[in-house]
Amino acid sequence: MQQVDAIVAGAGIWGCVVARVLAEKGRKVLVLEKRPHVGGNVRCETDPETGIEIHVYGSHIFHTHIDRVWDFVRRFVEFNGYQHKVLARHAGKTYFLPLGLTLVNQFYGLDLTPAELPAFVAAESAKGFAGGRAPANFEEQAIAFIGKPLYDAFIREYTRKQWGTDPRNLGADVIRRLPVRASYDVNYFPDYRQGIPLTGYNSLFDRLLDHPNIMLECNVDWLAWRNKSLIASRQPLTFYSGPIDALFGYKFGPLPWRSLRFEQERVPTVDFQGTSVVNYTDADVAFTRIHEFKHYHPEDAAAMSAPSTIICREYPQAWKPGDEPYYPVDTPESRERLALYQAETAKMPNLVVGGRLGEYKYYDIDRSIDRALEVASNEVL
Ligand SMILES: Cc1cc2nc3c(=O)[nH]c(=O)nc-3n(C[C@H](O)[C@H](O)[C@H](O)COP(=O)(O)OP(=O)(O)OC[C@H]3O[C@@H](n4cnc5c(N)ncnc54)[C@H](O)[C@@H]3O)c2cc1C
Repeated sequence: MQQVDAIVAGAGIWGCVVARVLAEKGRKVLVLEKRPHVGGNVRCETDPETGIEIHVYGSHIFHTHIDRVWDFVRRFVEFNGYQHKVLARHAGKTYFLPLGLTLVNQFYGLDLTPAELPAFVAAESAKGFAGGRAPANFEEQAIAFIGKPLYDAFIREYTRKQWGTDPRNLGADVIRRLPVRASYDVNYFPDYRQGIPLTGYNSLFDRLLDHPNIMLECNVDWLAWRNKSLIASRQPLTFYSGPIDALFGYKFGPLPWRSLRFEQERVPTVDFQGTSVVNYTDADVAFTRIHEFKHYHPEDAAAMSAPSTIICREYPQAWKPGDEPYYPVDTPESRERLALYQAETAKMPNLVVGGRLGEYKYYDIDRSIDRALEVASNEVL
């Protein structure tokens, strides 16, 4: 094997950014990816019939307020200016999320002004949760923030589906904030820098890795590779973004995740739901969301007017080892287990563990990039 200065195990956004920064510093980097393709969970496929970009692991919308991330990512792709909006179906009606003047006025049949909204929500909250003590669980905390009617309509059943348990079994700290916007702004993310790469997400990964100092091998599981590697005696500095528990053979037990199942369908209509994501907040619908991918590229006239559309129903499900891990399950037990694995990692001087699987943390794409920039800029080879 050619001499390399660093190995990057995992070609998701974290690994690809680490590899790029090291390569630009003159390091020879070998990227090993277990799957047959790069991109991790941001990977997309193009529908050959319509040209629609399908987000294979669920919808991904890039959004950020971090200057250095925005500057970095735009060296590789341009964004189309898509602004994400999410609608919710409840009791046969469609509402605009997030919680704000639009939703509250529509739901209660009122015409509140921005100045009137906070007092109205505070009164609803006080009716639902008397206070005098700290909220004991997720449900009480949510009602204390927004009141019972909004909670019952938009949060309770959605949360039950998402986490597979009654919200009263979830800790109050799961829901630290539930802001209600005193405006008609229905942009889902507060970041004004957002969008989808004009040339598609896959082009971002291809361009990040397109550097003479980067070598890429797919279909290689680094955990198996490192054991039989010829250079096992002197492993170069390695940046690993696979699961932290897998790194140690799950010796303290697997860290729990919540998984998802996606059911894709081609529908013979130009526009199925008129927007990219609709949440289903009632108990009688098993899925949580329907994604309709063509709406992520409003600039793509051919895909927008194609006679069919690709939709995807998202079903949360229990996770077992071997399933795709999506959301870390934050409990006192999982935190304790994570700390044991982190203590083991600290004993390995030539290894940097990162990314959503390595840190066992939910990170948006921009935070993943920011973390990768930090790690790769600080490394000492
Ligand atoms: C349902 C869902 C929706 C999301 N939507 C958004 C959104 O709209 N906007 C947003 O900003 N963020 C979103 N995110 C977050 C986004 O997916 C993450 O920020 C991003 O995927 C993190 O990248 P990563 O490189 O850390 O991990 P990953 O994308 O998981 O990449 C890790 C890579 O490492 C590889 N790997 C693992 N083990 C090994 C091994 N042993 N050897 C070699 N390779 C290995 C994996 O195959 C994978 O390719 C969403 C997340 C979820 C779960």
